[in-house]
Amino acid sequence: MTAVPVVIGIRAPHADAATAAPTPASQGLVDTHGRVHRDLRISLTDRCSLRCTYCMPEQGNEWLARSSILSTDEIVEVAEVAASLGIRTFRLTGGEPLLRADIVDVVRRISRIQGEDGPVEVAMTTNGISLAKKLPDLIDAGLTRLNISIDTVDRQRFADLTRRDRIDDVFEGIAAAAASELRPLKLNTVAMRGVNDDELPDLVAFAMEVGAQLRFIEQMPLDAGHTWDRASMVTREEILEKLAARWTLEPVPGRGGAPAEKWRIDGGPHEVGVIASVTAPFCGACDRLRLTADGQLRNCLFSNSEYDLIGVLRGDPASAPGHRAEGIAAMLRSCVHGKLPGHAINDPSFLQPARGMNAIGG
Ligand code: SAM
Ligand code: SF4
Repeated sequence: MTAVPVVIGIRAPHADAATAAPTPASQGLVDTHGRVHRDLRISLTDRCSLRCTYCMPEQGNEWLARSSILSTDEIVEVAEVAASLGIRTFRLTGGEPLLRADIVDVVRRISRIQGEDGPVEVAMTTNGISLAKKLPDLIDAGLTRLNISIDTVDRQRFADLTRRDRIDDVFEGIAAAAASELRPLKLNTVAMRGVNDDELPDLVAFAMEVGAQLRFIEQMPLDAGHTWDRASMVTREEILEKLAARWTLEPVPGRGGAPAEKWRIDGGPHEVGVIASVTAPFCGACDRLRLTADGQLRNCLFSNSEYDLIGVLRGDPASAPGHRAEGIAAMLRSCVHGKLPGHAINDPSFLQPARGMNAIGG
């Protein structure tokens, strides 16, 4: 099957790169700007147990059709081909990945895949709800790393922000992760003006207490309700200013392709990170691709183009698995080949993707 990008929106001045042929298989997933792709984020569902205001509307969300959600066999088939092309880390996300009934099976089957340099890593980003119960099985299945999202440690704020009164479930999930051997354990916080910007140092202190590293995320224009407003975004500079009022921060060198810039707190050992996608983009070192729960490949969170992998997986029931693997590899290469040098969220012409964060996979 030919690898054809499915354009779900038009961003004229930033149409995906379309010159020259995709990179040959022997060179792995290298884009036209020389970036080697090592990380595939797989969204397992667009559904969630919370309704964070910056991600999903309270009501009226249009869910993906259940029949379009990739099966575990399909996900594993894609992951095997991706690993053969140099992907080393698979991050399971959503929506809320723990809502997927077969989550342990997904982790077990991906973690058995051998990459170019040995077993692949299987990481997860979760809101922590039901993590305490599922963590032993997830670890036994091969989960290697965890990021848990928590935007406030205040019960009422949590209920207002997520529209669900479930902070105790999240605390329980964090406690279970802290008691496990999974390290580094990371906590993610979206900084929001007038919502949690007065408790940023307290969130860092909470993370230090449980032996985790906090990473602040600048709020991005990816909410399904399209309500993002630049003026209410708390910037990297503001975050650092608030932290510097309590601690001495010293930059940690060697960021590589990581989204977070890190600072050592009061000489260490604790560190804090900031993911400043809006005010200090890090596209030049991006090594990430995304697969949505309904089988669309994306080369950027902010892209308006998708590559129809489910069409390859389900297109011709008679096609032999070997033939399908070639089609998957061709689609992965096309997606990488079409990647732009950077996102355009600071351009006046930027159009927010049609999908919200819960349907893209954060
Ligand atoms: N439900 C899981 C969770 O919340 O961790 C995984 C999916 S969630 C979409 C992944 C990450 O994206 C979370 O850390 C969340 O805070 C972040 N996120 C969601 N919407 C965002 C936005 N508009 N701007 C910045 N980060 C966002
Ligand atoms: Fe759910 Fe995560 Fe989105 Fe919050 S950020 S609504 S927990 S998918």
